[in-house]
Amino acid sequence: MGKPTGFKEFERKKVEWRLPVVRINDYDEIYTEPKKQHLLEQGARCMDCGVPFCQSATGCPIDNLIPEWNDLVYNNRWKEASERLHKTNNFPEFTGRTCPAPCEGSCVLGITNPPVTIKNIENAIVDRAWSEGWIQPEPPQHRTGKKVAIVGSGPAGLSAADQLNQAGHHVTVFERADRIGGLLQYGIPNMKLSKEAVQRRVDKMTAEGVKFVTGANVGQNVDPKQLSDDHDAILLACGATKPRDLPIPNREASGVHFAMDFLTANTKQMVHGDTISDQFISAEGKDVIVIGGGDTGTDCIATSLRHGCRSLVNFELLPKPPAERSDDNPWPEWPRVFRVDYGHEEASVKYGSDPREFQVLSKEFIVDDSGQVQGIKTVTVQWTRKEDGGWEMNEVAGSEKEWPAQLILLSMGFLGPEQYLADSLKIDLDGRSNFKAEHGRFATNLEGVFAAGDCRRGQSLVVWAINEGRGAARAIDLFLEGSSDLPAPGITQGTSMEVVGV
Ligand SMILES: Cc1cc2nc3c(=O)[nH]c(=O)nc-3n(C[C@H](O)[C@H](O)[C@H](O)COP(=O)(O)OP(=O)(O)OC[C@H]3O[C@@H](n4cnc5c(N)ncnc54)[C@H](O)[C@@H]3O)c2cc1C
Ligand code: SF4
Repeated sequence: MGKPTGFKEFERKKVEWRLPVVRINDYDEIYTEPKKQHLLEQGARCMDCGVPFCQSATGCPIDNLIPEWNDLVYNNRWKEASERLHKTNNFPEFTGRTCPAPCEGSCVLGITNPPVTIKNIENAIVDRAWSEGWIQPEPPQHRTGKKVAIVGSGPAGLSAADQLNQAGHHVTVFERADRIGGLLQYGIPNMKLSKEAVQRRVDKMTAEGVKFVTGANVGQNVDPKQLSDDHDAILLACGATKPRDLPIPNREASGVHFAMDFLTANTKQMVHGDTISDQFISAEGKDVIVIGGGDTGTDCIATSLRHGCRSLVNFELLPKPPAERSDDNPWPEWPRVFRVDYGHEEASVKYGSDPREFQVLSKEFIVDDSGQVQGIKTVTVQWTRKEDGGWEMNEVAGSEKEWPAQLILLSMGFLGPEQYLADSLKIDLDGRSNFKAEHGRFATNLEGVFAAGDCRRGQSLVVWAINEGRGAARAIDLFLEGSSDLPAPGITQGTSMEVVGV
């Protein structure tokens, strides 16, 4: 334990984001450079608990050794902190930037005080490790001669590839997009996770022997049978990319788009530069409505602001969460409280109020004669607790409202992986239309074919994708070799974090 009285002496203080008025003018990351003394004090707040809830059960899904690196940071032993961090996390700069931090929700200090700033410390350790040159390619010492194909290059596919390569297998990652990274590349915007940070890891893995093939759409231009003939095992890590639709009148209107079409085209435009592509959807000068919240909704808000939208509203179907934990949401569960993410903060600064409107049900898109959306009709809904404990939603009479909008973005979650891969491989699906495979074993109904990440568990978080990629790597290593030295991360399947929306 760094400083026994640290939690009494120092207040929680997060590393600040850049000022909203400045950052909405660019796509650079929102973070500022943390000061060493600041991090040292925040590390000193850690109590090195006998039972560190931050790294177990409801805390970190990949069992990050949090109290150990808090202590190492406090004692200025950054290189060792980086080594400890990389023992459980292949990509701390991805989680350090994007994770909602279930560890902080479970931090014991959080019972009486604001929790330790674990996520900031994680990010600072790995950023320092990169800038000091401590992270270098380390190709494996031996090769097993076994070949593994991974379909999809998001955090699940990448973490599995990293683990399996280090175990000596020949790994090839097949990705249908033109760049590697899954939603780290074409999903989470640059403001939250720079594409240089993603590419830096891909380059390191390439130097270590992992092969990446882009433009390879398995089930379309790559024959799954051939893939299976050429490899000893296959891991499906192709994400949950089927968006939930909103089938209300005039859905076909132009100007109504899925959030991912908007976000992907924006990042493509940014990384490819040159001319504006046909797919690019501009929010410039428009009244924008984002339907649905979570990370995807926030990213749509932040991106629309950067385009220069005229106004911005974000509909949420559920009621506004409380400011503090409610009685039925005690520590160490994930706190279901009202949060202000970067996009909400930016919209508040630009327009003077938070963009979110709660308990709003969309009823009909309003279109003009040319089929262009001009607005949306809504009603307010009321949620009441039923006798069986469930919730009932009712429309409030007389609450009908019309909102102007020339661009409406649908951000209402995802419904599992796309069907063509399951069809072409004949993979069984579970009741939620995800690939059927048990957490821990990750084996599908086909011998030698495994599944991990969002395509198995449904739309979730980067940290859970890393958990699953690491776990599946161990399961594949066991399948190929009969034994495995690879670790099995957090076997907890489904914590309160499942409620975090993306
Ligand atoms: C807009 C957005 C913002 C998010 N923000 C956050 C956040 O801030 N924090 C957080 O923790 N989580 C966030 N998430 C969730 C997180 O990104 C996902 O849970 C995570 O990326 C899932 O990883 P994955 O590897 O399972 O799949 P993905 O990242 O979805 O990667 C799957 C890859 O497989 C490829 N693929 C699919 N089918 C095929 C095929 N047949 N052949 C070849 N390739 C194929 C896809 O092109 C894709 O690149 C966000 C999600 C979205 C949509
Ligand atoms: S629960 Fe909080 S205070 Fe305890 S060890 Fe983890 S980070 Fe430190």
